[in-house]
Amino acid sequence: MNSTLDPAPALQQLLAFKGLLVLLWLLLALVLEQWRPAALPPLSLAGYGAAWFARWGRNLGLFALGAALSSLLVLPVTIWASSLQLWTRPAAVPPLAWPLIDIVLLDLWIYWWHRANHVVPFLWRFHEVHHRDRHLDATSALRFHFGELFLSALVRAVVIIALAIPLQSVLVFEALVLVAAIFHHANWRLPAGFERALSRVIITPSRHWVHHHRVRRDTDSTYGTIFSFWDPLFRSTTPTQRTQLMEIGVEGREEADFIALIGLPSRGAAPATAPAEAQAETAMQALPAAK
Ligand SMILES: [Zn+2]
Repeated sequence: MNSTLDPAPALQQLLAFKGLLVLLWLLLALVLEQWRPAALPPLSLAGYGAAWFARWGRNLGLFALGAALSSLLVLPVTIWASSLQLWTRPAAVPPLAWPLIDIVLLDLWIYWWHRANHVVPFLWRFHEVHHRDRHLDATSALRFHFGELFLSALVRAVVIIALAIPLQSVLVFEALVLVAAIFHHANWRLPAGFERALSRVIITPSRHWVHHHRVRRDTDSTYGTIFSFWDPLFRSTTPTQRTQLMEIGVEGREEADFIALIGLPSRGAAPATAPAEAQAETAMQALPAAK
């Protein structure tokens, strides 16, 4: 075992670089979304009026809470877990290969964690906050309940300890997850051929938007975060293709205000308010995807 609980200057630099990278990528996504949007927002959010900015307030408010919690709890838990090296990694593997192996392993972990969030009712209480968004853009990638972030950090700590994953690999992975999440939630229209080629390796917006389709069958599919090969491997794909007017959200549920979203996990599963509504509205999806 070694002790690296004190944030060393190298760690501070890595954290600063991660923050700057994510901020610049977010700003780029927000600009490109205005330039070449792929989907129209629902009428209730159209026009960049009060409802639009209230939505941004909810998403960015949840992000601010999550970021505060991350520095107070998630980072210390991660530093602690990565300081417990229960076994020594074999020298036969070239040192430069380990970061790549770690990223693939952590992406495999987050695939199953995400899947568990949809299958285990207690975890869905938290993850539902992310899915209640009725439209998607780069800010949706930042919209998570802090309870989900904390639970994720606790379970991930077990993975980090079991696989002896160093802190640097975890922080690089976290940065990649944020970059990937902003990319596949963003409402930007990519050239069709480019996106098709990219989707063979990584999760693209067309794939992930189907995960946010307001039809539970599709919501419970396509769990990948960075790499796109886990879903076919573990049989969690859906034949549904993204369409321009695809309705986004949770079937039978509505968006809630910021305070209600914070308290959502404590309320548990409320009865669906309008189970037939999603099906009626998805019948309107006649336009092909704009890409
Ligand atoms: Zn999900």
